[in-house]
Amino acid sequence: MEDEKQRKHKAAMEKQKSKVDAKIERADIERGVAVLLTGNGKGKSSSAFGMVIRALGYGQKVAVVQFIKGKQLSGEEMFLQKHFPQMDFYQMGTGFTWNTQDRSGDIAAAETTWAQAQKHLQDPELDLLILDELTYMLAYQYLDEDKVISAIQQRPEQQSVIVTGRGGGAALRECVDTVSEIKDIKHAFKAGIKARKGVDY
Ligand code: ATP
Ligand code: MG
Repeated sequence: MEDEKQRKHKAAMEKQKSKVDAKIERADIERGVAVLLTGNGKGKSSSAFGMVIRALGYGQKVAVVQFIKGKQLSGEEMFLQKHFPQMDFYQMGTGFTWNTQDRSGDIAAAETTWAQAQKHLQDPELDLLILDELTYMLAYQYLDEDKVISAIQQRPEQQSVIVTGRGGGAALRECVDTVSEIKDIKHAFKAGIKARKGVDY
């Protein structure tokens, strides 16, 4: 009985392996990928920083541009600045007096930050670029969608780019290679639990 189970399991695994091997064989294009991490659930930015660590592990060149308000110190920023001080890490809030009542000020901040992103999107040496919370700049129409999409499309062939944020729009979804939507099942904050160092920021 056990032998029969074992034999069946082995046969199933072999079949599975040959399918996976065939798929691996078929994927023969070598180029950078564009990834959109979206949805209402927790895990978009932290996943992007997971890829930062993967890339750094291989000694690759990485840059991060965060389209976030204010100067938000996060654990990943502190870690990266301490251990990879040469890495380009730009936050929209840095050096700006962010004023949510002031739309033209917001647009100016978004444009200045976009200029950083654009510089990286033209750098053939760069392996991985994170455009954290970029989707909101498109949703608020702080940045022109066509401009953003064509810059992503025209980046160097071997460069990968990770965009995070809720929404993102049909055109952005169309232009990237991978889209993952993180679904909100439940979140501790809604049960009154404070945002946690090392987990939430
Ligand atoms: P993380 O940075 O933890 O991966 P995220 O990038 O998916 O989160 P953001 O909307 O950028 O999500 O939010 C950042 C902060 O908001 C984090 O502290 C996160 O825990 C919290 N957050 C994310 N999703 C939710 C949610 N559905 N309800 C409440 N808080 C959330
Ligand atoms: Mg985020």
